[in-house]
Amino acid sequence: MQNKIHKIPEKPVVIVGGGWSGLATACYLAEQNIPVTLIESAKQLGGRARKSTSRTQILDNGQHLMLGAYSEMLDLLRRIGIKEDDVFFRSQQHLKLLNAKYLHTILDLKLPAMAKPYNLLFGLLFSKGLRFKEKLIVLYRFDKLLKTPVPEDKDVSVTEWLKDADLPTNYILFLNALCLAAMNTSAGSASAMSFQNVLNETFNGEQGSTDLLIPAVNLGSVLPLPASIYLAKKQAKVLNQTKATSLQLDNNTVTHIVTADKTFAASAVVLATPAHITSQLLKPAEDCNELCHNLDQFRYESITTVYLRYNDHCQIPEKIIGLTGSLSEWVFDRSVADQPGMIAVVISCSDSHREVENKDLCLTIRNELAVVFPHWPKPSASWVIREKRATFLCTPEANQHRPGSATPLDNLFLSGDYLATDKLFLPATLETSIRNAKASAEEVVNYLNRQNTDPTI
Ligand SMILES: Cc1cc2nc3c(=O)[nH]c(=O)nc-3n(C[C@H](O)[C@H](O)[C@H](O)COP(=O)(O)OP(=O)(O)OC[C@H]3O[C@@H](n4cnc5c(N)ncnc54)[C@H](O)[C@@H]3O)c2cc1C
Repeated sequence: MQNKIHKIPEKPVVIVGGGWSGLATACYLAEQNIPVTLIESAKQLGGRARKSTSRTQILDNGQHLMLGAYSEMLDLLRRIGIKEDDVFFRSQQHLKLLNAKYLHTILDLKLPAMAKPYNLLFGLLFSKGLRFKEKLIVLYRFDKLLKTPVPEDKDVSVTEWLKDADLPTNYILFLNALCLAAMNTSAGSASAMSFQNVLNETFNGEQGSTDLLIPAVNLGSVLPLPASIYLAKKQAKVLNQTKATSLQLDNNTVTHIVTADKTFAASAVVLATPAHITSQLLKPAEDCNELCHNLDQFRYESITTVYLRYNDHCQIPEKIIGLTGSLSEWVFDRSVADQPGMIAVVISCSDSHREVENKDLCLTIRNELAVVFPHWPKPSASWVIREKRATFLCTPEANQHRPGSATPLDNLFLSGDYLATDKLFLPATLETSIRNAKASAEEVVNYLNRQNTDPTI
């Protein structure tokens, strides 16, 4: 963090919400020895990216994928003492997209370990699924597309944005699949500006930014557990099963956070709750009417993860494979997370099968995988995890309503994956949560420093 605290406040900064953004905000503040109390309503930390246990089986609340471009996430892990290799399996980007019915390759793109732009140049030239002339077209037009910024006030859908570039059909199918994976919003409604920023951060970022980082341990052990150990060392209080029910206000500041059986005095407060909960908590504060109105504009999309247990020999050489023309979108081999034979199938924007029962959904997915991997036997067990409000829909309209971290209340700040603190309007991801957490912690430190220099206090 750039700002350093001048004087440690007596009362703690109270952080509401122990998802990745709340935990990251707490770590940034605790790093400067600022007293922190974090309250989390659930039994365990991690929010939407947490460990989930079904009977004796440890699973993730949803299969996640991170990228080498997640620079702030990697930096935070380093700061709290976690080695990347202990929690991630890093592989050079190898994205294979197959048609699930006819099994032809839409695109098989493997980026070599070279500096940009040579990685994309050689990756595309040796890719499968495009004719040679099409590869040259992609190299020229895709580069131009990324380098021509989409203005904030002229944002359009990804589909519309790609129309003008006149790219080969298979490459468009590939970008549509990436858009869905990265933004949980289909290309027809996703923001071109946000998608362009995601692509630039990935393909035009530092060396290694295109690498895939697949969690090699359960999600709880990637950040939530190490963060709670770090926070304990820094004497921060972390209270699970403690739900904030309201805020006590005095003039323009929040004095206390109220829970069912306790109130917590606060020097400053960070609401790291999802946007709709933040809006509920802020409704009584009249000055926050406009902010609540903005928070209420978000629409949400679900993500379903179907886990199927096959035998240990069933593996996917690429570790991840994308499918089109099927309900299954991305198929992950969990052997990298020490669960050989466990396959996770991710279905984004999964409203279309909301009414389908778990058992029927598993059967559909199983049948789809049987076409792609005909030698696999039947799975011996299956689990379905549906997250209804997985992420907000990252559309041009939603971007207009995304707030920053500061609020109309002097000592109240926001953190979470729905904020737009750096004006890149990145979609809801773990990296966005952590970037916004850092911005929020900076605002808190600024506020606390202002309190110390204000002669009227
Ligand atoms: C199935 C799924 C798959 C995903 N895949 C990816 C992926 O592959 N890559 C990626 O980068 N991102 C992915 N995401 C998105 C990513 O998980 C989220 O962006 C991120 O976890 C959001 O973190 P957060 O801290 O902002 O919010 P949350 O995780 O929602 O944290 C908010 C916390 O606040 C707590 N809370 C709520 N109300 C109260 C209250 N009144 N008092 C106290 N605590 C309260 C909640 O219990 C929760 O723990 C995925 C999300 C899902 C659901």
